[in-house]
Amino acid sequence: MSAPWDYIAKVICLGDSGTGKSSLTVRLCEGRFNKTDVTIGVELDSRVVDVDDGKKIKLQIWDTAGQEQYRSVTNSYIRNATGALLVYDITRRETLSHVQRWLSDLRNIGEPHISIVLVGNKCDLADRRQVSTEEAAEWAKENGINFHVETSAKTGESVERAFVEVAQEIYRNIRDGVY
Ligand code: GDP
Repeated sequence: MSAPWDYIAKVICLGDSGTGKSSLTVRLCEGRFNKTDVTIGVELDSRVVDVDDGKKIKLQIWDTAGQEQYRSVTNSYIRNATGALLVYDITRRETLSHVQRWLSDLRNIGEPHISIVLVGNKCDLADRRQVSTEEAAEWAKENGINFHVETSAKTGESVERAFVEVAQEIYRNIRDGVY
C-alpha cells in the first residue's frame, strides 16, 4: 500500500514563550483549543496538508519552548527543518522585535532555502492589539519573508492557511529541485 502522503517535511515553530506556538500546533493537528501543558524543550505533532498538483505533504511540526535555557536544544532542531513559523503575539509588541533573533538563528544555522512565514497570533484579542497588521507586514517584507498572516489559535482563524503556506513553499522547492 502506498503512503497517504507524497513528502514529509519538518517544520519548526519559533517565537517567544506565550505567543501561542503550542496552541497553533494543537489547533492544526487536533482541531481544538484547550492546551494547558507548558512546553518543555520541544514537542512533536503532525498533520497531512494538500498542496499544488494534488500532492500531499505530511508536516512534522516541532513546537519549541521559546525560553532561553532551551536555546541550544532549539538550535539543534532548526538545523534540518525545511520550514518555519515565526510566531509573535499581536498584543505584545516586544514579541515582534524578538522574532528578529529567531530569524537570525534560522538564517545562520538553518537550511539555506528554508521556507519562513511570519505569524501574528491572538488576532481575536483585537482590543488589546499593540502591533498593526501593516507594521508587521512591512517588517516581513524588509526581512525577506514572503508571507505574513494573522491567526487565532482560539477561534481557528487562518491557522490552516499559515501552515499550508509553509507546505506550499516547501513543495515548490522540492518540485523545483532545490532540495
Ligand atoms: P507557547 O508558549 O508559545 O507555546 O504558547 P501557548 O500555546 O502555551 O499559549 C500561551 C497562552 O496564550 C495560553 O494561555 C493560551 O491559551 C493563549 N493563547 C494561545 N493562542 C491564543 C489565541 O489565538 N487567542 C487567545 N485569546 N489566546 C491564545
